[in-house]
Amino acid sequence: MNPRALTLSTLGPLCAKSSTHAKRNRGGRPKAAKNPVEPLWFQLGLLVAVLVLAAAPLGAQTVPIAELLKDPAVSAAREFARQGELRVIEDQVELTEVAAPGFKEGPRGLLMKRKFEELGLRNVRIDRVGNVIGERPGLSARPNLVLAAHLDTVFPEGTDVRVKREGTLLRAPGISDDGRGLAVLLGVARALDAGRVQTRGSMTFVADVGEEGLSDLRGMRELFGVTLKDQIDAFVSIDGTDHGITTVGVGSHRYRVTFRGPGGHSFGAFGLVNPVHALGRAVAKIADLQVPREPKVTFNVGRIGGGTSVNSIAADAWFEMDMRSSDAAALGSIDASFQKVVDDAVREENERWNNGRLTVTKDLVGERPAGRTADSAAIVQTAIAVSKALGLLVGLGEGSTDANIPMSRGIPSITVGGGGKGTGAHSPAEAFDATDSWKGTERVLLLVIALAGK
Ligand SMILES: [Zn+2]
Repeated sequence: MNPRALTLSTLGPLCAKSSTHAKRNRGGRPKAAKNPVEPLWFQLGLLVAVLVLAAAPLGAQTVPIAELLKDPAVSAAREFARQGELRVIEDQVELTEVAAPGFKEGPRGLLMKRKFEELGLRNVRIDRVGNVIGERPGLSARPNLVLAAHLDTVFPEGTDVRVKREGTLLRAPGISDDGRGLAVLLGVARALDAGRVQTRGSMTFVADVGEEGLSDLRGMRELFGVTLKDQIDAFVSIDGTDHGITTVGVGSHRYRVTFRGPGGHSFGAFGLVNPVHALGRAVAKIADLQVPREPKVTFNVGRIGGGTSVNSIAADAWFEMDMRSSDAAALGSIDASFQKVVDDAVREENERWNNGRLTVTKDLVGERPAGRTADSAAIVQTAIAVSKALGLLVGLGEGSTDANIPMSRGIPSITVGGGGKGTGAHSPAEAFDATDSWKGTERVLLLVIALAGK
């Protein structure tokens, strides 16, 4: 298998940012409205929203966002987040300039570990797959909120990751995805400390491995399955830029399908079963598969290959298949249909000639579970309330992110943007505009305080 080609074939829709952007824009201002003075209806609307959407999803008590905003420690932490954004940008640049291709996140992980230690997080450690973990104890160990950002990038070894600055614009592969998330993770820990914010529940900060491409969320699988098994009550991932809230985790199954036969001369051995013909039958059947519009289900044969020469009956042929849905049952259903038509294609080719025998293998080369956190869930309502309280546009969206794993396990979880404006994610032209990016840091800060309880 050619991992590079597969990685390239996964660009775009895999990461949250490409699909979170205001897909389901709820109750936010129209994007064009940039008046420095908010209309009265909007201010009143905010107030109502803040009062109605009280936030205490993890604890028993209810702490309205409006109350939080009056808290002196919270105010001090917010002020620090606003004033300390330059430091966040510095971290973002420093982290981005340490290359972190998938499965080679070690050096960037060590840098995060040192920064966690400098920030005074407790029990800082690196687990066996490379996740960096640091704790910020609250008044009690539970509930425990995990705040995470991913270390890995889609860029291969040798990519020039030096950051070029042009005013507020920073250019470098990975500067937004997820250099921004990692920097905000540190900025939030620093602001909590500066404000001496004491939360009821505890927080665990995680810089995780294996979010992108063929890594298949291996960092999250280890975190939820082993490292912090049964110790996570809620999960927030900071991934990329802007202010989106991802509540739907798009799942995917990827296969490499290989047909094998005896092979032979195209003239002399004519009448022999043919792997390329079987592949053609299979792809034609796949092309005719019917899928629902809602929930959205997609399928794609991305690459095909095989054969020896134009005058040979091939001994093998292969194709690569990608299927996605945010609905686990629908994903299972399209997978079953795919399996059946491939088996049918092989049987038909064998029956057509009854000469030689074709076999097929379907290797699962990528798998991400689907999941969702209900819009009505406290963690989503809190994220909306916090965003509105800060006057930010609220957009709920779907994507394939670290939160897929907790979502698939029924643990309250979302992925949020880290603020600022990102362009060209997953491309060498990736850039980050730091204009007003402190708003992202402040929002995540307020969100984690609301979730952990004050
Ligand atoms: Zn990302």
